[in-house]
Amino acid sequence: MLPAVELFTLTKRFGSQIALADISLQVDAGEFLTLLGPSGCGKTTLLRLIAGLEHPDTGRIHLAGQDITNQPAYRRPVHTVFQNYALFPHLNVGDNIAFGLMRKGQPQSVIRQRVEAMLKLVGLEGIHHQYPHELSGGQQQRVALARALACEPPVLLLDEPMSALDPHLRRHMRRELKALQRQLGMTFILVTHDQVEALTLSDRIAVMHSGRILQVGTPEELHTTPSTAFVASFIGNCNLLRGEVRRTEHHTCTVVIGEHLVNVANNHLPTKPGQTVTIAVHPESIQVASLSDVLSNHRTALTGQLTERAYAGSETYWTIRLSDGQVITAALRHTPTSDWAVGTRVQVFWPPSQAVIVKPDDT
Ligand code: ATP
Repeated sequence: MLPAVELFTLTKRFGSQIALADISLQVDAGEFLTLLGPSGCGKTTLLRLIAGLEHPDTGRIHLAGQDITNQPAYRRPVHTVFQNYALFPHLNVGDNIAFGLMRKGQPQSVIRQRVEAMLKLVGLEGIHHQYPHELSGGQQQRVALARALACEPPVLLLDEPMSALDPHLRRHMRRELKALQRQLGMTFILVTHDQVEALTLSDRIAVMHSGRILQVGTPEELHTTPSTAFVASFIGNCNLLRGEVRRTEHHTCTVVIGEHLVNVANNHLPTKPGQTVTIAVHPESIQVASLSDVLSNHRTALTGQLTERAYAGSETYWTIRLSDGQVITAALRHTPTSDWAVGTRVQVFWPPSQAVIVKPDDT
């Protein structure tokens, strides 16, 4: 099957500001792809280029194999759901949903049936006579979705569609959105800066930073094998540690941190002995033991001192200053032995496969 969307070396400037630099990406038909990144990284601009609301300076955009780079927005087979819902305030819910179908000249009976079906799909049966201002934020959001889905666009673009909802409603809408996308088999491209939203909804995520795509992968790939320091800290709140390569084997390296040797995974970068590298480790991968504990594999243990603790319900975040001065955070589940006092000196270790060498941010 042809990819739903293909982007070839897109660039976009606003004056001297480079909003997008050399963006290439393929989105498969029926895929849920998320553009994830911090504010200002270019996510919305990229979505607007696909929608035809902005024009790229260079590069091409294909939809289902057709070059649509120069096609006006209204002729593109995509629909956009914006952050602020953008419902027509003077039209009731039914007419809002029917709007696109009426413009397509569909018969009244078909439109009526379709509006009913869409309202049922988003769980809002029986409200077609209400006006947008009479609805809650969550209801308005669902009407905006119903309006977008009514025209059955092969590609639906969603720009932070849940950012105005409270956390409870947002979780509820996420489940609904995912279920709807599966049920309809449509291609969804979602823009968000919310990692949890991206991880829970997406088939694949494209992580963006400063107008570039740094890495594209499944949520699990990005979480377990981030390729850059930025992806590691943005997706998994990873600790980033500096070390020096001592030995390098196929997909593993032995690295010196302070005076200790640790084993780490390396999936992305060529390394050689003596090289300084950045290592990413998730807070929840870090284990801590008393100095007196005998570990089964001494080589992977560092020493450090607990400097701070932050209780967070099911776990406690410990800040640990390692003997070489680097600082890491460990998320420790509550056990009787983890109830140390601030100031306690401890051993720190992790399963070697759960620490990876990543590209530093400045390359
Ligand atoms: P946010 O999450 O805050 O919406 P974003 O990742 O969607 O951010 P964009 O809105 O795409 O980022 O903006 C990318 C860059 O391009 C920013 O530096 C922004 O200031 C700039 N930019 C976007 N649109 C315009 C415009 N119409 N005129 C000038 N600069 C713009």
